[in-house]
Amino acid sequence: MHDQPILKVRNLNRQFGAGCRHCINAEDRSLTKNYCESCGTVYACQNISLDLFAGEILGVVGESGSGKSSLMKCLYFDSEVTSGEVLLDDEELRGQNLFEVSSQKKRYIRNYKYGMVYQNPVHGLKMNFSSIGNIAEKLIAAGNRNVGEMEKIGKRLLETVHIPIFRMKEEPRHFSGGMQQRVQIAKALSNNPPVLFLDEVTTGLDLSVQADVLDLIKTIQREFGISMVVVSHDLAVIRMLADRTIVMLNGEIVEQGLTDQILEDPSHKYTQQLVYSLL
Ligand code: ADP
Ligand code: MG
Repeated sequence: MHDQPILKVRNLNRQFGAGCRHCINAEDRSLTKNYCESCGTVYACQNISLDLFAGEILGVVGESGSGKSSLMKCLYFDSEVTSGEVLLDDEELRGQNLFEVSSQKKRYIRNYKYGMVYQNPVHGLKMNFSSIGNIAEKLIAAGNRNVGEMEKIGKRLLETVHIPIFRMKEEPRHFSGGMQQRVQIAKALSNNPPVLFLDEVTTGLDLSVQADVLDLIKTIQREFGISMVVVSHDLAVIRMLADRTIVMLNGEIVEQGLTDQILEDPSHKYTQQLVYSLL
């Protein structure tokens, strides 16, 4: 493993609400799960720090409401952090806290450095654009202008995700859930991003379809060497994909380490429950 992480997150906080004297102090806040009963503030992400290394899949697992999507939205700039730092190991961006750069620069980073695959394909795709049109949209955002070239890249990407080329003009709204996720993945890969975020991409799919999409993600890791953060409430998904895993509960990291080690010897009580429920 390389010693310099490609993505380095430090002390990320995301809260909904202003806080009050019962919860504003992180050291001695009294919350019900992630929620302050006095003022209603939700602490969705509390002091999250993580490293993503080149070519690895980092898993984030935790029950519904544990803050996984809030974390991903902050990382992809869909949502503002309350506080925190993120550094990308990139020639132009090194040393800058990306949470604090201009919105123009954030857009640039999303277009050129990041890919995102959402749980709900409606958030990642224009359902009434053709599939190849969706890919072209992201290619254009990343500075491409040559139509012939974009078509070539689009066809190759659809092949990569096993969408038949003869269906490339079809709109994703006519596709099955599994196919929509594969178009989303193709689109997310189109700018050749060093970092890819995937939030519950197989949740809600049939088990056999889920297995195909998980296989595809594994293949992409092997062939493209892209670093990925994969979020799921389902430890079985994380077990299949992730080299290292972070366990979240009530907005906090309660355990992290090599996925195999966490599965063999979970130390936090919540992780133990997750592991036993697999058996
Ligand atoms: P997960 O993805 O792990 O299910 P989320 O990140 O979606 O969890 O949610 C974490 C917590 O933040 C939940 O308690 C949720 O209700 C709360 N939350 C998420 N988005 C908002 C919002 N826009 N306003 C208020 N609370 C929110
Ligand atoms: Mg979620």
